[in-house]
Amino acid sequence: MFIDHEYIESLLNEAKNATKEDIQAVLNRAEERKGLSHKDIAILLQTEDEEQLKEMYKIAGEIKKSIYGNRIVMFAPLYVSDYCVNNCVYCGYKKNNKFARRRLTREEIQQEVKILEKMGHKRLALEAGEDPENCPIDYILDAIDAVYSTQNDNGIIRRINVNIAATTVENYKKLKEAKIGTYILFQETYHKPTYNKMHPNSIKGDYEYHLTAFDRAMEGGIDDVGAGVLFGLADPKFEVLGLMLHNEHLEEKHGVGFHTISFPRLKKAEGTDLKAFPHLVSDDMFKKIVAITRIAVPFTGIIMSTRESAEMRRELLKYGVSQLSAGSSVEVGGYKEREEGKNDVEQFEMADHRTPIEVLKELIDSQYIPSYCTACYRKGRTGDRFMSLAKSGQIQNVCTPNALMTLMEFLMDYGDEELHQKGEALIQEELRKIKREDVRNLVTNNIERIKSGERDLYL
Ligand code: SF4
Ligand code: SF4
Repeated sequence: MFIDHEYIESLLNEAKNATKEDIQAVLNRAEERKGLSHKDIAILLQTEDEEQLKEMYKIAGEIKKSIYGNRIVMFAPLYVSDYCVNNCVYCGYKKNNKFARRRLTREEIQQEVKILEKMGHKRLALEAGEDPENCPIDYILDAIDAVYSTQNDNGIIRRINVNIAATTVENYKKLKEAKIGTYILFQETYHKPTYNKMHPNSIKGDYEYHLTAFDRAMEGGIDDVGAGVLFGLADPKFEVLGLMLHNEHLEEKHGVGFHTISFPRLKKAEGTDLKAFPHLVSDDMFKKIVAITRIAVPFTGIIMSTRESAEMRRELLKYGVSQLSAGSSVEVGGYKEREEGKNDVEQFEMADHRTPIEVLKELIDSQYIPSYCTACYRKGRTGDRFMSLAKSGQIQNVCTPNALMTLMEFLMDYGDEELHQKGEALIQEELRKIKREDVRNLVTNNIERIKSGERDLYL
């Protein structure tokens, strides 16, 4: 198995003796963008010195900026079913929690999508618990179709990433045919003894089957996969190295690693006592592992959800986060219920409750370009084609123009007066920074076309 526990433990043990000089040598290599070894990553994880931490954060931020520019991609989750046959210790949807479960009908999905579209979203992550009877693959395929076919004025969902349980090659083929963006699956923890403890008596309890899900997804033709660890279950240092080894395995076997990595941190959930988890991750450790992951896998998108507070998200943006959710609800039918002032069982507790407009204002104030871009997969830039563009440093030549065009769409269709002013000023400033004259002219022209009513222009 490619997650060799003894190997990871030995790396971590050896790294315990790392001196300040050893750490500095790795930081210097990171700054020169020389590939880092597993040993180097293990050494970086030992960094405690304030000055060295600052240097590490700076390098992580610069790496993100040099590859993707200053765009931040926005998305929202859509929970369609909370039926679940598993009993994951940390989750509010676990089988043992008794509450009225539901799965949305096609009409209910369309209602949710319309609300999300009114918020300006173009990219969703579809989420469902695991239940082969109440939530079979055909239901998911129909849900995807319901989302893609729901249009509301200028609102349309252009990319659906799907986060459903590990499944078979045949089912992954079906998801591919349904035109999903990224297939997302969190390993939760790479540490097998912890994995077994967290997933008692359940389908999900099969560590190997879960771990090899991306291999089957890739066999089924899906080439963008999104990984994640639920930080707080096992030693976070072990998890970072687990992520690295998993990524390398996919690169070696399928030619492309993770498209994204999500960073959920264990939060309070219905029926979960946080005191039972000895590895809860402090804010300082969390910042460190986000920055180290950015340095270790420079070309992979890093996703931060609304589990984290506005302050934490603000800070982590500086260290390499490239995608944010906004205005999220983490319950089935939650968008409609929120409109109606109701509130039900959530999968976990959220910390950032701001609307997309509020999040966008802050991003713009901090000189980030909020982006609703979904261009790559619609242009066939997926898998290794995407990675080679990212690795050659070319991706920001499309990221920035697409961010500016989608921001203008948002301003026209959903922005208030204040956002409009802030956004327009940022767009003009960013247009001036585009070096290639032909690209600058094209984007300037497209921005005018969007102002005159055209939509969905992208490179
Ligand atoms: Fe079910 Fe997923 Fe929650 Fe586990 S984490 S109980 S599989 S919804
Ligand atoms: Fe993402 Fe591609 Fe759009 Fe850049 S151009 S934001 S990588 S979809």
